[in-house]
Amino acid sequence: MKRTVAAFAVLAALAPPALAAPKNPADVDGARIVAADREPGNWMSHGRTYDEQRYSPLKRIDDGNVGKLGLAWTYKLDVDRGVESTAIVVDGVMYTTGAQSIVYALDARNGKLLWRYDPQVPGENLTQGCCDTVNRGVAVWKGKVYVGTFDGRLVALDARSGTPVWTVDTVENRKKSYTITGAPRIVKGKVLIGNGGAEFGVRGYVTAYDAETGKQAWRFYTVPGDPNDPPEDKAMEIALKTWSGRGWLDWGGGGTVWDSMAYDPQLNLLYIGTGNGSPWNHKFRSDGKGDNLFLSSIVALDADTGEYAWHYQTTPADQWDYTATQHIVLADLNIDGQPRKVLMQAPKNGFFYVIDRTNGKLISAKNFVPINWATHVDPATGRPVLTPDADYLSGPKVVVPSFLGAHNWQPMSFNPKTGYVYLPGQESMAGLQAQEKPLFIPHKAVVNLGVEVPDLPEDPKVEAQIRSAWKGRLIAWDPVKQAPAWTHEYAAPWNGGTLSTAGNLVFQGTADGRAVAYAADSGKQLWQARVNSGSMAGPVTYEVDGVQYVTFMAGWGGAFPLVTGPLSLSARVQPEARIVTFRLGASGKLPPAKKAVVALPPLQKITASQDELKQARTMFNGFCGSCHGLNAVSGGVLPDLRYMTPARHEQYVAVLSGAKLNRGMPSFASVLQAKDMELIRQYIVKRSHDLQEQLKLLPAGTAAN
Ligand code: CA
Repeated sequence: MKRTVAAFAVLAALAPPALAAPKNPADVDGARIVAADREPGNWMSHGRTYDEQRYSPLKRIDDGNVGKLGLAWTYKLDVDRGVESTAIVVDGVMYTTGAQSIVYALDARNGKLLWRYDPQVPGENLTQGCCDTVNRGVAVWKGKVYVGTFDGRLVALDARSGTPVWTVDTVENRKKSYTITGAPRIVKGKVLIGNGGAEFGVRGYVTAYDAETGKQAWRFYTVPGDPNDPPEDKAMEIALKTWSGRGWLDWGGGGTVWDSMAYDPQLNLLYIGTGNGSPWNHKFRSDGKGDNLFLSSIVALDADTGEYAWHYQTTPADQWDYTATQHIVLADLNIDGQPRKVLMQAPKNGFFYVIDRTNGKLISAKNFVPINWATHVDPATGRPVLTPDADYLSGPKVVVPSFLGAHNWQPMSFNPKTGYVYLPGQESMAGLQAQEKPLFIPHKAVVNLGVEVPDLPEDPKVEAQIRSAWKGRLIAWDPVKQAPAWTHEYAAPWNGGTLSTAGNLVFQGTADGRAVAYAADSGKQLWQARVNSGSMAGPVTYEVDGVQYVTFMAGWGGAFPLVTGPLSLSARVQPEARIVTFRLGASGKLPPAKKAVVALPPLQKITASQDELKQARTMFNGFCGSCHGLNAVSGGVLPDLRYMTPARHEQYVAVLSGAKLNRGMPSFASVLQAKDMELIRQYIVKRSHDLQEQLKLLPAGTAAN
């Protein structure tokens, strides 16, 4: 008996003391965020600071000891789909999100769940959006936690309990397919949030709400409304002059503010990045005329009123999905002997921009990966100089980079010590072909681009060739010289956001399921560990009780595996959503990673003719390909339909007609007739047969693509 008591006493001494719950959890305000370097143990805002540098002054973990990092704790998230969240850590508590906008509050030292909030996004809303049911994280302010939900609500939660305090609907037109995937930012007591949905015909805007009450303070539209109505503000007067015809009114216009924002407290300017046009096709959108402000732009707004200050359009008349919603970083750089207040962005179009953030004037721009759509950015006009390869209105073209971008939402970081920006870049290309006549399908889960779905040949050899041309790169970019200092290549694109620290380190998750640390100055790889699934989100570092931690959010998903299924298989991971946290000297073990299914169920008969199957392929790629993978080869996040069992084939028509709406599978009953559904099923069956042939050529037990 005595021995047992003693053993418990020892265990009690080893276990960390119960978290002295902060008196006022998440008690963050603007003064605290502005002075974030005074408490480097916390990560209080999306980009850590308002300038969104994602640089931490913490240095207990450094280039000398990083090899000793081990698993401190892991927490399995509910939904195994894309995880894109940046965790917020305040006074020992971590607030983060998983797919379907579920919020988690955990003890940051050991991953113990404090509370969980599921906004219960309705199944019919989970069918919306281009790029998975992702969420990029919460904001915290004066005891509340704020999340934008996938169905477009903004919810304020009590930081102590996770109980909703207020909810507002950010969607002004519920007939349109608006979503929220971005993280809110909070400036001067106002919560700022934009929307997604440009591929689905929405009009973009960003809205400010009172953090205390949820009352709307202002809304800034990014594209004009109906010219017959008075413009909402001066910005819309400026913008309207750059649009032609009325096409965009039917297709929404786009320009959604779905991710990046930054704030300069001295200038009191809020910077937002805006998305692509709706539809992509400039001819259908604006008669092929005009720059179409404020698409694919960086726009500076007065943080108090939302009034327009200046804009810089990275891609005038965008028709390649070259959004400028990518991460914005503010820094003070010495350029040509002068201190300059700059804004930096590496949008999808492949150019790295350094802009004067006081007035929006271009300082310099240089492509950071090979591109073919423009030769350079004219320093005098600030405009890209286009090549004939960009002009797919005159005939089909292969455009570099693709609509997934030379850089997407994965955040970059800026290390003031090295002066480098650590940029998760990638190489990709897309075949684009304009529709001859506008083909608009009225369905909330179907993209309307005015452009044919990019074709990908079924031939596995050609597919493999294209796949190997899509690569990832971590680039240490010198923004003053506009040149890389060092580069690390990855076999797969869609690697994670970056974090840099005062310990001369850069941390990045990878598409192939690792957490990696590099020396910030030389790029030498110093440490890596498995995280089981692709890790795309920006890692964070924090300190509690004198111990520094590094957290990676793992969970493969998002646009790359969903939209371009077969091309994403180079990552060779399964979706498995979890928080993975490391510290020096820890020796925790992750459970084994999920394995892909390789055995095919009994195959169905092909009854359709070759001609019918050709037509069926186009329909499959149009209606099903953006989730279940082009040519019925899934990227692995949502079911690979080639593996449908006989029972699934029995349920097929019911599922396609809404039987699994509550799980996020759309109903296509309004746009597909019974014979179309059967044709699409025939294509799936044909692709199961193709797969069976491929598997015969492989060693037993090997996964084909
Ligand atoms: Ca887009």
